[in-house]
Amino acid sequence: ERKGIGRLRRLPARLLSGEDIELLANVELPAELPLLLRNGAVGIGLLRSEFLFDEELPLPDEDGQYAVYAGMVSDMEGRITTIRVLDWGGEKGIARLRQLGLPAGDEAENPAMGMRGLRLLLAHPEILEVQLAAILRASLIGPVRILLPMVTSTNEIIAAREHYERVAKRLRRRGVKISADLPPLGIMIETPAAALTTDALVRQADFLAVGTNDLTMYTLAVDRASSMTSELYSPLHPAVLRLIRASADDAFRSHRPICVCGELAADARAVALLIGLGIRSFSMNAAALPRVKRMIRSLTLDSCDTLCRQAMLTSDPIELQKLVRQFAV
Ligand code: PEP
Ligand code: MG
Repeated sequence: ERKGIGRLRRLPARLLSGEDIELLANVELPAELPLLLRNGAVGIGLLRSEFLFDEELPLPDEDGQYAVYAGMVSDMEGRITTIRVLDWGGEKGIARLRQLGLPAGDEAENPAMGMRGLRLLLAHPEILEVQLAAILRASLIGPVRILLPMVTSTNEIIAAREHYERVAKRLRRRGVKISADLPPLGIMIETPAAALTTDALVRQADFLAVGTNDLTMYTLAVDRASSMTSELYSPLHPAVLRLIRASADDAFRSHRPICVCGELAADARAVALLIGLGIRSFSMNAAALPRVKRMIRSLTLDSCDTLCRQAMLTSDPIELQKLVRQFAV
């Protein structure tokens, strides 16, 4: 098995019909890098930076964050590292802000719909700017992209970009040699609003990453963390699929790179379906990479297209799940 994986690592993630697929890894901790490299990821598609913002410690400063990003970018040896800025969500963000003595607003009835992700960063731009400065410095070591979480409108991206440019200017004034072309600034598509207005968002975003975990939650009105409703929580719901398609079609039309990086990308059969939608880039937990690559190497584009066409015809989640489960290569 180990030997098989060693061989697989060096083989391309290519369909039998010849199309290349990009397989990236989601990372929550730097300790996952060896597994990612062993399993042949061509880069990091999503670095969740929350681990840096430890519950017990004060907010990390620019130098502290820089040291971590620089170490990871260097370990990636020229492969892309996509760093998502802090995505505190729901109760977690509010509780932590309080703990730090920062304004946190009132107690929200629905924290998942309140101050989270980019909204929270724009309300506390000092946190965003310190993180962007650290990432920009690390981008001198190797290729980096920056990802904004929980976007719902163009204004938010424009505001984030203003901070980004201000931070770059400030660093240059300090003598840090940042290139004129800043690293790409992309957005997560994880709300129905973002999926349905991708045509507008792409004018401000350099690349897109579909986060199917939150997109599923916000589309189906099912909490991703609740065990009471876990049977209802499935990204393989026609509504979620149609949103992904709408977003992907807008991305293709505007020639913006798009990647699927939620848990759905770790489901090899779902990946076949998404290839049928036109997606060519996936980011998943590193442990799932060999399984997905093996599947990809056994598929033809025709078989993916057929699965996708059938899938898009169904409006019934149970039927869709059955169709994908029964998909035989
Ligand atoms: C997602 O929402 O699908 C995602 C990739 O981000 P996270 O799981 O970190 O919320
Ligand atoms: Mg998310």
